[in-house]
Amino acid sequence: MTETTDCVFCKIAAGQIPSHRLFEDADCFSFLDISPLAEGHTLLVPKRHFQSLADVPEDLLGRTFMALPRLVRAVTAATEAEGCNVLVNDGRVAGQVVPHVHIHVIPRLKGDSLGYRWNTGAYPEGRAEELCARIGQGLQ
Ligand code: 5GP
Ligand code: ZN
Repeated sequence: MTETTDCVFCKIAAGQIPSHRLFEDADCFSFLDISPLAEGHTLLVPKRHFQSLADVPEDLLGRTFMALPRLVRAVTAATEAEGCNVLVNDGRVAGQVVPHVHIHVIPRLKGDSLGYRWNTGAYPEGRAEELCARIGQGLQ
């Protein structure tokens, strides 16, 4: 963990930067995103500073994710959304701008024109098996 004194989410956690706070417990807190993709766009953030999901201790990440169902229910109900995108941008290349792990909850309405379709690919013969083996090694 690299505690950064200039991290915007650490400052929000410490109350040094104001936010529209939704809830807080010992491990995590949530607040409205300042530049919402949709009304009710919410961020769920572990209080301790970690840059990547991969760095967060499993028990802390587990407790943070346990807050999600309640948050999703409350956000979708309040915004009358029909669904939501729950996503993590992990790493600059993946669009992460704030280097403190956070989970986006973005309410979605039919016809909201946000869109969400990426170009998909296909595995050439043998490649899926190769990848399975390589990823499997990392899981041991
Ligand atoms: P990222 O691109 O890193 O996944 O998303 C960072 C999010 O944090 C963005 O959606 C951005 O609008 C939000 N954000 C950045 N600074 C602040 C802030 O000071 N307050 C709040 N409430 N949200 C912020
Ligand atoms: Zn931080």
